[in-house]
Amino acid sequence: MTSFSESLIGWYSHNKRDLPWRDTKNPYNIWVSEIILQQTRVNQGLNYYYRFIEKFPDIQTLAKSDINVLLKLWQGLGYYSRARNMHVTAQEITKNLNNKFPSNYNELIKLKGIGDYTASAIASISFNKQTPVLDGNVFRVMSRLYGIAESTQTSSGKKVFKEKLLEIISKKEPGTFNQAIMEFGALQCVPNNPNCQNCLFIKSCFAYNNDMIRDLPLKKPKINQKDRYFNYLLITHGNATFVEQRMKNDIWKLLYQFPLIETTKKISLVEIMKDKKWKSLFGSIEPEIDLKVFEKKHILSHQKIHAQLFKLKINKPNEYILNNYKMVQIDELHTLGVPRLLEIFIKQIIN
Ligand code: SF4
Repeated sequence: MTSFSESLIGWYSHNKRDLPWRDTKNPYNIWVSEIILQQTRVNQGLNYYYRFIEKFPDIQTLAKSDINVLLKLWQGLGYYSRARNMHVTAQEITKNLNNKFPSNYNELIKLKGIGDYTASAIASISFNKQTPVLDGNVFRVMSRLYGIAESTQTSSGKKVFKEKLLEIISKKEPGTFNQAIMEFGALQCVPNNPNCQNCLFIKSCFAYNNDMIRDLPLKKPKINQKDRYFNYLLITHGNATFVEQRMKNDIWKLLYQFPLIETTKKISLVEIMKDKKWKSLFGSIEPEIDLKVFEKKHILSHQKIHAQLFKLKINKPNEYILNNYKMVQIDELHTLGVPRLLEIFIKQIIN
């Protein structure tokens, strides 16, 4: 009798999408693709993957690169800590691991930015280890097929999924099995209206046979998004403007931004002018203010950013601005890594 893993791998060989990281077992390429694809759809990630591999074809090139160049390439993908962690890991591998990725899960997971999912993917795809991956697609397929009503938000729930996966993973081709089950979730057993009528597993599928497709997998608890209010000041001085690099452990670390005044609610420019930072930026000089205010709402996974951007002109920057901000030519702004939110503002206002 054909086992579940054989049937699944058979399905995969006929239905898989042709993606560049599927032609290789090179752990560097697998790592890059897996990190890019976390929180990113394949269509969007594909271009980033091509550009990444072209710019940083191997771990040594990545390790030697300027982090700002990497962040610029990453611009628009979000979750910038992924890029920063990749840089750290590339340096660790070149300095201490002889340019080679570890070949097992326990060593892989020690590297920065490599969690359970990525360690399992690299160990199985590149080194043929039986380490099942558990992502949203796998979670859904397993939950429906086997009627597992456990949450993946808890370690006990994850353990149940992992144990079942360890029972069924292909012993011969664990990497292909992992890719197959993820692809099956992405193409066939999709969240809404899965293609059950053409499914190989219709006879044995728990959810189908118990009319529980809408109930499985268990829904994730809703995330409470925090509202933040960012007031950017685009200060121009001739053809130049001023930016700073975000250094705190917060969203968008190491990306550039215009001088920012964050407030606890939406406020008007008149109120912003009373802020301490405004006073430091302008002192007694009165900038020329453009009355058009640019506004944008930007949604992140845990935060909702309500942004306003004000355009101001000054004749002469004071000491505070010169000491705390970097002066850049406006036509060079596009070379800096900035959050997607600012990229949109810049396109809207300057280009
Ligand atoms: S029968 Fe439907 S719910 Fe069950 S595995 Fe197949 S596609 Fe998913």
